[in-house]
Amino acid sequence: MKKAELNYTKQGYSYIKCTAEDCYNWGGACICDDCNIKMNDDIYLIFILGRALCKKCFDEWSRRGKKYAEDIKLQNEKHIGFYNAYGFDVEK
Ligand SMILES: [Zn+2]
Repeated sequence: MKKAELNYTKQGYSYIKCTAEDCYNWGGACICDDCNIKMNDDIYLIFILGRALCKKCFDEWSRRGKKYAEDIKLQNEKHIGFYNAYGFDVEK
C-alpha cells in the first residue's frame, strides 16, 4: 500500500490528496464524482462523501460543508478501513 497523509477540513472531515495514478490503481476513472470533469493530479478522496472530487469541487464542499457530530463519529470508526481499501496506508 502507498503511504498517505490524512488531512482534515476545518469541519473535521478527513481526506487524502491523491494522483491520477493512484486513482487508476484503485480502478477509478479519474472523473470527478461531482462535476464529471477529467481530473489530473489534484484528486481529493473523501470518506464521508464516499467520493473523489476535483480541486474546485473539493474547495466548494469544504467551504460550505457543515459539521455533523454523527458524521464525525462514523468517520472515526470507519475511515481508516475505507482509505485502506483504496490502497492507502494511513496513520491515525
Ligand atoms: Zn469537480
